[in-house]
Amino acid sequence: SQEHLRNSEKLSVIGQLAAGVAHEIRNPLTTLKGFLQILSKSETTAKKDQEYFEIMKDELTRIESIVSEMLVLAKPQALSVQSVDLKETLEHVIKLLSAQANMQNIEITFFDNQLTPTVMGDENQLKQVFLNVVKNAFEAMPQGGILCIGLGLHQGHVQIDFIDTGVGIPEDIVQKIGEPFFTTKSKGTGLGFLLSKRIITNHNGSMHIQSTVGKGTMVSVHLPVSE
Ligand code: ADP
Ligand code: MG
Repeated sequence: SQEHLRNSEKLSVIGQLAAGVAHEIRNPLTTLKGFLQILSKSETTAKKDQEYFEIMKDELTRIESIVSEMLVLAKPQALSVQSVDLKETLEHVIKLLSAQANMQNIEITFFDNQLTPTVMGDENQLKQVFLNVVKNAFEAMPQGGILCIGLGLHQGHVQIDFIDTGVGIPEDIVQKIGEPFFTTKSKGTGLGFLLSKRIITNHNGSMHIQSTVGKGTMVSVHLPVSE
């Protein structure tokens, strides 16, 4: 489709730029971080300047994550395929984010329907997808809420649902999600969903969003079941 074409054109531009620029940015970034570290530890540095250092470190970290997301997008990663136990993978992701969920008043419930479907895939990349989706859900619930994660089998594929009680997404915005750099957040990169979708597509799967403003959002990931 037209939209597809526009996206792939944008992607190839990003690809060319990112491969070169992202790489070039990495080295000076490392240098900056290093000297910042030294300065912040120096005895001649005033206490009140510490908070500026913290902000600078945070911002450098943000640049780093944009750069590394762009690098991943630019160079298609080789899949290191193995049998992945999705229940285990999801439980690991939930564990990783449970402290943050607690702090943000978010309750995570996990329904596995007594199933332990396995898929053939790259566990690290799948983890990356689940982390991205859960983080988006968290960011949609600044006042707290419930994130329900469901794992099920449907017509020969595994379906993983992430249902949040967050702000929801207006219809005209849903279509734009996954466009390079599309974000509604002041601190967003607008690359998370694109990256996730890329990974799932590489796994012969698909991703879908359903949302109601003021009620919440469901992101579904479909993956083929392994034999
Ligand atoms: P980022 O999180 O950096 O903004 P993403 O590609 O991960 O980039 O997401 C793009 C946009 O999709 C977000 O800025 C947000 O507007 C919307 N979005 C994604 N997931 C959700 C969700 N669960 N609830 C509400 N909005 C969402
Ligand atoms: Mg995101």
